[in-house]
Amino acid sequence: MKKIGVLALQGAVSEHLDAISRTGATAVAVKHPDQLHDLDGLILPGGESTTMRRLMKKYDLFETIQAFAKSGKGIFGTCAGLVLTAREIDGSDDETLGLIDTVVMRNGFGRQKDSFEAAIEIKGLKGDPFPAVFIRAPYIASVGEQVSVLATIDNKCIAAQQGKILVTAFHPELTGDTRLLELFIASL
Ligand code: GLN
Repeated sequence: MKKIGVLALQGAVSEHLDAISRTGATAVAVKHPDQLHDLDGLILPGGESTTMRRLMKKYDLFETIQAFAKSGKGIFGTCAGLVLTAREIDGSDDETLGLIDTVVMRNGFGRQKDSFEAAIEIKGLKGDPFPAVFIRAPYIASVGEQVSVLATIDNKCIAAQQGKILVTAFHPELTGDTRLLELFIASL
């Protein structure tokens, strides 16, 4: 059975833990670096990326998560997690984990679309369109050659994958549809 952690410093943690359990995998709330060693994958949840970065640094999880990914383990970054995993944040010097070759636009959908839901087609997912919830969501402004774009909305990239790193601009854990999570777990 696969063991999947959720970074539990801040943000939408419990919904991810529930979703992991529903797929039959083991869910772990990760607060300390020493919890990473026996995980197959880690979810970086939505929340506030600036706060999450500060707490990751404080609890010695920033470099540890980079090493975890480098050792071949999977990372699923949702919303703020997509921002933190990026190579770069457009217009900002804020440090990122640099796990996927993307440049992201924080709060990229602006005020008018602060929060919205959309049914989207995701490459690799069979069946109905995926119900995606966007909350002050970022988008991916550009990707490197190694990155596959999995979904777009208004020509903006909102889901992408590079090896075992999967990112979405939306919150897949909020709708009860676990197909994307299952896709992530199957890739590990
Ligand atoms: N706008 C937030 C950030 O950049 C992300 C919002 C979210 O995770 N729902 O940190």
